[in-house]
Amino acid sequence: MKTAIINSDSYEKHNTGDGHPEQPKRVIAIKEKLSKRKDLVWDKPSKVPEDILSMTHSKNYIKDLKNSFPQKGLKFLDGDTVVSPESKKAVFDAAGSTIKAIDGIENKQFHNAFCLARPPGHHAEKSKAMGFCCISNAGIATNYLISKYKYKKVACVDFDVHWGNGNYDVMRDNKNSLYISTHQYPFFPGGGTEKDKGDFNNSLNIPLPAGTNSEQYFNAFDRVLERLIKYKPDFLIFSAGFDAHKDDPLAQFQLCSKDFYEITKRTLVATNQFTNGKVISILEGGYDLNALAESANEHVNALIEFS
Ligand SMILES: [Zn+2]
Repeated sequence: MKTAIINSDSYEKHNTGDGHPEQPKRVIAIKEKLSKRKDLVWDKPSKVPEDILSMTHSKNYIKDLKNSFPQKGLKFLDGDTVVSPESKKAVFDAAGSTIKAIDGIENKQFHNAFCLARPPGHHAEKSKAMGFCCISNAGIATNYLISKYKYKKVACVDFDVHWGNGNYDVMRDNKNSLYISTHQYPFFPGGGTEKDKGDFNNSLNIPLPAGTNSEQYFNAFDRVLERLIKYKPDFLIFSAGFDAHKDDPLAQFQLCSKDFYEITKRTLVATNQFTNGKVISILEGGYDLNALAESANEHVNALIEFS
């Protein structure tokens, strides 16, 4: 069985306005890189069940979100979260890509999957759009795995350079999930210190200073691996942001493209014995187009190799 890429044309129509770093070219750059490969299967998102949406976000927020897309032009949901008329399909497709990824694995259509989606999700809280994000896509995946497939230990590893405050907010009171994040600190969005342990000691947050290089990052990442081995997850989710790359314009980590292969490899080597290789990955940030495409390709290399 192969690795799947879950993708939709809607992601290229989610217009965030000229000069916005979270732009359509992000998914186009990765798609161009991955399209050249012959070792992948491509599939499209499914619809997110309403009960999963309302398990993940407040009912009022979902109602407001559905009504917030403009008829024309742009609308700001917060200072930097921008939507346009065609964003609605992209937002719900991004969440729905995780549903297809999970169903495809459970139905043995493919071995694992990378959701090549935008907008990203890890800053969207239960009741708030934030930081380019409207729905916690990883939160949707977590709730779907637990609700539909009765998983008991779902681990989410978020290696985006920013703390996933939204993922944390959605997962912190979920006894069946473990949320782990490495991120630049102090930095946007604030929070994500060692004190943020979740309501059931079900979160590990590792803040690292600006300038963190590969060696320093992997020293810290050993703690992620130790925690995963102790937890023994039955399903793994990556919140896969590639903005810890040294070329990224929005942050100050010093990782190189190959490091994303290594992050992925080490995580899968540690967890495959528990998950039987069941893993989905969801695109979060990454704003230098070349670095993003290269890094995502390295991530997919490891998803294939260590599946
Ligand atoms: Zn980020």
